[in-house]
Amino acid sequence: MTIQILPDEVASQIAAGEVVERPASVVKELVENALDAGATSIHIKVDAAGKRLIEVSDDGCGISMEEMRIAMARHATSKLRRAEDLFHITSLGFRGEALASIASVSRMTLESKTRTEKTGARLIVEGGKESQFEPAGLPGGTTVRVEDLFLTVPARLKFLKTDATERSQIDSLVARYALAYPDVRFQLVQDGHSSLSTPGNGNRREVLAGLYGVDLARQMIEVLLQEENLNLTGFISPVSVTRATRRDITFFVNGRWVQDPALSSALVQAYHTMLMVGRYPAAALFLKLEPEEVDVNVHPAKAEVRFRSQDKVFSVVQRGVRRALLASSPVPYIQPSR
Ligand code: ADP
Ligand code: MG
Repeated sequence: MTIQILPDEVASQIAAGEVVERPASVVKELVENALDAGATSIHIKVDAAGKRLIEVSDDGCGISMEEMRIAMARHATSKLRRAEDLFHITSLGFRGEALASIASVSRMTLESKTRTEKTGARLIVEGGKESQFEPAGLPGGTTVRVEDLFLTVPARLKFLKTDATERSQIDSLVARYALAYPDVRFQLVQDGHSSLSTPGNGNRREVLAGLYGVDLARQMIEVLLQEENLNLTGFISPVSVTRATRRDITFFVNGRWVQDPALSSALVQAYHTMLMVGRYPAAALFLKLEPEEVDVNVHPAKAEVRFRSQDKVFSVVQRGVRRALLASSPVPYIQPSR
């Protein structure tokens, strides 16, 4: 599909707001673009917690030379045409904002070649202004290089956490996507050291260690429930492993990472009396349902969704988790009396 600027009446219906708050949000947008492009392999390079460099390379469909400039424009997307399309979105992106927003606050190099082009092209944009555009001999796919993030808005650098925190946010973000897309090979290199590498062979359990460490990964219980058009898969921690926060709870809905307190409540409720008050499980759960059943256009960073049949979704999460828990420990766990 070609890249076009959305008409104003469509653009105005899209949940607006800032998508590039921190290095991890840049990584998220670029990884989502690579996945939307059908990549089977995604290579991510990060230097200085993303402040110096974030580079994402994929072997996806590429962007043709004629479309590279427009891809950088605000509200330019190949994934959405009309307002009606907002109700059955199957791609991760649809707002046409990410490249434009990131390019406006950094020095961005976009290198791409489609499968039908003989050579590719390189476009460099500094602080939103084009500084170079030339043909370039490239392999198929796309590389987006983001250097000196927040170069044009240095005040934003002050809002970042320590490098260690920003780095670990990138680690866990990539680990989550690697787990959600086990058929895709992910490689993450931070400051020259490999921090994550997945085989892309479709085996989720092999990817689990990246998110939870080897020990917990081994103990995680598999969840599987198919009901009508709802499909729930993933992994949950046994009752013996708990966390003080909900931070290790991850939900993906139709391939999209969502942070939905109601979904994690459904999960926690399924553990019922098996958890001490104030303790939470670790979980990575993946829900698939008809695109029409989910409204993804409620949050600028697309981190929240709304379900048409909320109760049904929660009930599937609860029952799926409950069943997996009971199957893994047939003797019900009884909370010791105090
Ligand atoms: P969105 O993803 O919401 O459409 P983006 O600003 O992220 O908006 O990207 C704009 C357009 O550029 C996309 O719709 C897509 O056509 C193209 N694009 C961006 N990244 C890639 C990529 N890695 N591979 C192929 N096409 C891409
Ligand atoms: Mg995008």
